[in-house]
Amino acid sequence: MHILLIRFSSMGDVVLQTATVNWLRSLYGNNIKLSFVTSQEFASLIDSHPGINNVITFNRRGGETWKHLIQKIDHLDNETPIDLIMDLHATLRSFRLRLNYWTTPALTIDKRRWERFLLTKLKGTFFKRLISQRVFGLEPQAQRIINDFESMFFDSYGVRRTKDFIHGPHLEMTSLGHLPEYKIDGKYIVLAPSASFAPKRWPVKSFVELAQKLLNSTNNKVVILAGPEDKFCEAFAEIKSERLLNLQGKTSLKESMSILAGAEVCIGNDSGMNHIAEAHGVPCLTIFGPTDPRFGFAPHGSKSKYVSKELWCKPCSTTGSKACFRDKVYCMQEITVGEVYETYVSMGVHS
Ligand code: SF4
Repeated sequence: MHILLIRFSSMGDVVLQTATVNWLRSLYGNNIKLSFVTSQEFASLIDSHPGINNVITFNRRGGETWKHLIQKIDHLDNETPIDLIMDLHATLRSFRLRLNYWTTPALTIDKRRWERFLLTKLKGTFFKRLISQRVFGLEPQAQRIINDFESMFFDSYGVRRTKDFIHGPHLEMTSLGHLPEYKIDGKYIVLAPSASFAPKRWPVKSFVELAQKLLNSTNNKVVILAGPEDKFCEAFAEIKSERLLNLQGKTSLKESMSILAGAEVCIGNDSGMNHIAEAHGVPCLTIFGPTDPRFGFAPHGSKSKYVSKELWCKPCSTTGSKACFRDKVYCMQEITVGEVYETYVSMGVHS
């Protein structure tokens, strides 16, 4: 069987879908071929995943058109006909792609759009709590997708799988493949102060203060990981310590993944870096601002934790992309350095 998985973006979501890849492998072993369609900028996240046979990239920013993408998929389809499409994105873009293969059976994830929308529109913590208890829980999104698909899949003996697999080791859920090594001597903590949207970022001055506190209280190095555009990381220059390595803008995505894989712990915003660290089994501390752990993106490793304030206005959007409508970003600014540090200590990875 040949299955085509579609997830164009973003970083964290692509990583989380490796759980679906691992789950399919657990059902069918090597009896299936898995091809994964994603945007060019996220291909390096999954191109060394041992469970994925082909990564088909769409380089829209580089000028590739829809026709190019279809040609690439057609080429694979001619080699081994695609039996099933799993749309893990559920957007107009992925719908358009599925339309090109309308005779091929397709499954689409349920993103719980209405429930998430309702949670952002309801104001007041009482109603939010009521709806979230009934609808959300804290089930990881990666696991929920598997639960949804599970009822439709049978193992190679024709028996419906139980939920044993998804209760197995965390690494089986989202493990990424082998990565080239990027060695940093000794133990280190990664701080990931960036996020796709500004409101999702804990203030950089808080990250700087936290970095100093970690350097003072541990023998670990502190490594800053962020993209080339995250110039705000220059604020870390005020720390005069050889144990602080500010790698903002200096590493490729693959190198960042390799660094995250070797970290003692990763502390960051609700962003792709934390999902990558978790996929490598590294304990994570995630700081939630305008988004909400109830959406299913809380870290779920056994030692991982998160910090999130309960406010009447939060969550104010499903992705954290909307500008704050209050006089200041309370959801982030009310999270203190002491609170994040104490949560880190309580994770039991402090050394
Ligand atoms: S303080 Fe409230 S309105 Fe402002 S970004 Fe945070 S959740 Fe949204």
